[in-house]
Amino acid sequence: MAPAVAPFANGASPSTPAPAAATSTPNATPKAATADPNVFEVVFGTLLIKPWYPSFYAESLVGRSVPRLYVCHVCFKYSKELLHFLAHLRACASRSAGPPGQVVYAKDGLELWEMDGEQERLYAQNLSLFAKLFLDTKSVFYDVGTFLYYLLVAERPNPEIRTAMGVHGMEAGAGGDGEGAGAGASASAREEKQVVGFFSKEKMSWDNNNLACILVFPPWQKQGLGQVLMGASYEISRREGRLGGPEKPLSDLGRRAYIHYWSTTLARAILGAPSKKTLTVLDLRNETYIVPEDIIATLQAMDVLEHRKRGGADAVINKAKVREWVERNRINLAPVVDPDAFVQEEADVEVEDDEDDE
Ligand SMILES: [Zn+2]
Repeated sequence: MAPAVAPFANGASPSTPAPAAATSTPNATPKAATADPNVFEVVFGTLLIKPWYPSFYAESLVGRSVPRLYVCHVCFKYSKELLHFLAHLRACASRSAGPPGQVVYAKDGLELWEMDGEQERLYAQNLSLFAKLFLDTKSVFYDVGTFLYYLLVAERPNPEIRTAMGVHGMEAGAGGDGEGAGAGASASAREEKQVVGFFSKEKMSWDNNNLACILVFPPWQKQGLGQVLMGASYEISRREGRLGGPEKPLSDLGRRAYIHYWSTTLARAILGAPSKKTLTVLDLRNETYIVPEDIIATLQAMDVLEHRKRGGADAVINKAKVREWVERNRINLAPVVDPDAFVQEEADVEVEDDEDDE
């Protein structure tokens, strides 16, 4: 087989960004990019995607600027040659194997796979290179071996990727395990499961960060999947007893998504508490695992705090204002992840109340 370009086989990561192309292109990025993308189009499986940011693909492998790069939607290997790409798709070993790692969460057609960057270096590097097209951060490229990756897999992705090779290679052999549950889609051929986004997390974080990078790939954005990833990252921290948050500073897009997650989660906790109870920031922290600094900033942004002295607290949460906020913003308070759908046993840990942030 003609393998797609398999970069960095020795595990080395590029340390400097490729120079930006001199051409100026109309920029559809959510934020003014620091430089124009040097990969102009990406074919991801069968989807055509416009990159937002300069890539870190090695210049020696893809050239200085690339009109069109082909990326395997299964293993993230890439090529600038269509024929290599097609040959690769036909032979891609990962197609029948599924994503690397193991399932840690499964619910409502979504799975979360935990993958160790040390054990899957090439996959992690190729995933990071693809992600870099949509992230304006270099931190994707710290040594992949020190990170865990959580891959979000959609059973029925919308849009779906259908290659000329048809649906998943697993179909032939693995169909017997009672998959009849998918009655709704019974007539149509079974779609391929697809990695639609991910987050990474340092194995050891001095700052207790529970997330380093987060990305839902553009074709699957605006479906609430980022909120699922954030919810999962907090539920995983809760199980580990690691009280933290995303690595900062956040991008503009990241901040907006997190403010949405934090405010919705806090509103759920506040409105779900017994009506007479006065909630403190500590109560909310213990309930949501969001760090106090993010709780306070979020409550301020929601404008639901009242500054008056009562029972020793400087600020009290006004529940009526929270309810108004929920209605005004048409917030769906249903939890984004189901703690019972995690596969791993919950560790018996509690947050210590005494080492408190002032
Ligand atoms: Zn592949």
